[in-house]
Amino acid sequence: MFAKILIANRGEIACRVIDSCRRLGVATVAVYSEADRDARHVAMADEAVAIGGAAPADSYLRGEAIIAAARASGAEAIHPGYGFLSENPEFVDAVEAAGLVFIGPSARAIRAMGLKDAAKRLMAEAGVPVVPGYHGAEQAEAHLAQAAADVGYPVLIKAVAGGGGKGMRRVDRAADFADALVSARGEARTAFGNDAVLIEKYVRAPRHIEVQVFGDGSDAVHLFERDCSLQRRHQKVIEEAPAPGMTPEMRAAMGEAAVRAAKAIGYSGAGTVEFIVDGSAGLRPDRFWFMEMNTRLQVEHPVTEAITGIDLVQWQLRVASGEGLPCRQEDLSITGHAFEARLYAEDVPAGFLPATGRLSHLRFAEAARIETGVREGDTISPWYDPMIAKIVTHGPTRGAALRQLARAIEATEVAGTVTNLRFLGALARHAGFGRGEVDTGLIERDLASLVAEAEPGRAALVAAVLAAAGLWEDAWRLSGFTLWAPLPRRITLRRGEAETAAVIRVEGPDRVRVEIEGRESLAERRGDWWIDGAKAPGGVVRQGARVEVFAGGAFGFDVVDPLERDVAHGAGADVTLSPMPGLVKAVFVKAAQTVARGDRLAVLEAMKMEHTLTAARDGVVAEVLVAAGAQVEAGAALVRLEAEA
Ligand code: ADP
Ligand code: ADP
Ligand code: MG
Repeated sequence: MFAKILIANRGEIACRVIDSCRRLGVATVAVYSEADRDARHVAMADEAVAIGGAAPADSYLRGEAIIAAARASGAEAIHPGYGFLSENPEFVDAVEAAGLVFIGPSARAIRAMGLKDAAKRLMAEAGVPVVPGYHGAEQAEAHLAQAAADVGYPVLIKAVAGGGGKGMRRVDRAADFADALVSARGEARTAFGNDAVLIEKYVRAPRHIEVQVFGDGSDAVHLFERDCSLQRRHQKVIEEAPAPGMTPEMRAAMGEAAVRAAKAIGYSGAGTVEFIVDGSAGLRPDRFWFMEMNTRLQVEHPVTEAITGIDLVQWQLRVASGEGLPCRQEDLSITGHAFEARLYAEDVPAGFLPATGRLSHLRFAEAARIETGVREGDTISPWYDPMIAKIVTHGPTRGAALRQLARAIEATEVAGTVTNLRFLGALARHAGFGRGEVDTGLIERDLASLVAEAEPGRAALVAAVLAAAGLWEDAWRLSGFTLWAPLPRRITLRRGEAETAAVIRVEGPDRVRVEIEGRESLAERRGDWWIDGAKAPGGVVRQGARVEVFAGGAFGFDVVDPLERDVAHGAGADVTLSPMPGLVKAVFVKAAQTVARGDRLAVLEAMKMEHTLTAARDGVVAEVLVAAGAQVEAGAALVRLEAEA
């Protein structure tokens, strides 16, 4: 085994690799860009080396700088993670030329699978079923259009160098072919610098089922399948293992085909063979076809780890350091069912736009496996993939694992950026998905209901009102009760355009009545808060005038400052009243002083915020009725102006 390795990546996957290294007693070297100086993966590693600017081209894609860092730090091997340089054969050659070990397949194997057309020809020769289509070199439009007609519509145009769903267009009729070709080529040229395409039959009721393989250069095994059919624009959203409805015959056929693919290229390390499956009549051994092979560890590998009990990163290190395959095919088996959901900083209603922000509050479910590269206080920057975490659950049955997933999503709290949490939650509770009726069109078909903006429920509203009143946290029992007890208080919350007006009556140190829209709720503290007899949402965060309640997604509210109103209502009034119970922090005026409308009179501290009281009109101060340090009731007179002439 290696004594020390370098991880040429960032984020959750770098942290994930470091975790396994720790378990093996292997020292780790992180690399980082300027933007990642304080990142979690840097903090977790034993050593860390700066490799350049924030843009990937200036840091994580600089093979020569990464190799230099490995040599300078005495690392013997480089783990590439996924993305970045993980499937770059020139990088593998350079690593080996520098006398280091690349933890992954050979450059030759990566090249063999690098272009989809060549990979398909190779797989067809090896006897692996491939999607019917045209994978040739001739790229003239007329030729490709003829190929599409021969294959039969609908077809898929795919960039041969494609990845991440880019450069792909579905075409339903011959009349649309030419336009689709131009746009697929344009996207492929920009993304991959290669505009060659292939034509594939578009499979009906398509399911994406992939097989995890592992090789040692001569032999290979498979670790069963993952179903990644829950996709949006060809990007995976929730993955699971095993595939729902899988039969022993189909699994054996797919596993055998995947192992044949791996052996055909002398594969070493972890890899994934992706198949497209026609699920229109259940899973049948003659209805799956090779799409591509990903010659790296895959984002969704944890679901395979969960059902097999194998640490794939440990296997990668063991095989790369010269050991043979850690076990034989017959030693592998499936236990239970696992799911993974990808939590992103993205604006779902705005069309799943990537988002950024500082994670001012971050809590994950304790019952799930969480793979993350960020901590509370960290920033999701515009430079990299906006993934916040992968949420992984494992249960004895599919239903149990899915319920766990739904609950783990609901227990996740993120403030400081928008996320796809509610969308993930809606998916995890989707009835068809629950029944295992998955295909790659599911999300698109039900998009409207999956992205529907939820409204906060009664309990979330009551919790927000309590937080706005400063009653949510424990501290209120010391100061709040005496201060509040006799007085009904008015709290107004704003959420978008909607305002919620509430009246609070504190009945005891553990009992509060909250009236909203004419209906009363009883909030009681029994350890945690209970609202109308049910446990209140766990996560409530108050930051200044903002309250976030986490109840199956984040609901944000602005606390409307009552002074805004009272000043408006009281314009022209002689006496400035305290709008709420509180502590007078400062008084800025004296008797006989002339003030102008809007001048500061005093500062009141209440509800954990400071409120500045201002003059409602121009005038002369007749009397100051309080001093700094005084505790006042709501409605107490603070400053009186001389009556207007
Ligand atoms: P998987 O099948 O493992 O989900 P993806 O195609 O989603 O693979 O890609 C995995 C990771 O690789 C992504 O999260 C991203 O970091 C990286 N990646 C994939 N495609 C691209 C791309 N076109 N540009 C930059 N990074 C990419
Ligand atoms: P990428 O390299 O971008 O991952 P893939 O070839 O793996 O491209 O395809 C990505 C996704 O596109 C698949 O997971 C599947 O949802 C869809 N897809 C690909 N090929 C077909 C096909 N022939 N028929 C139907 N859907 C397909
Ligand atoms: Mg793919």
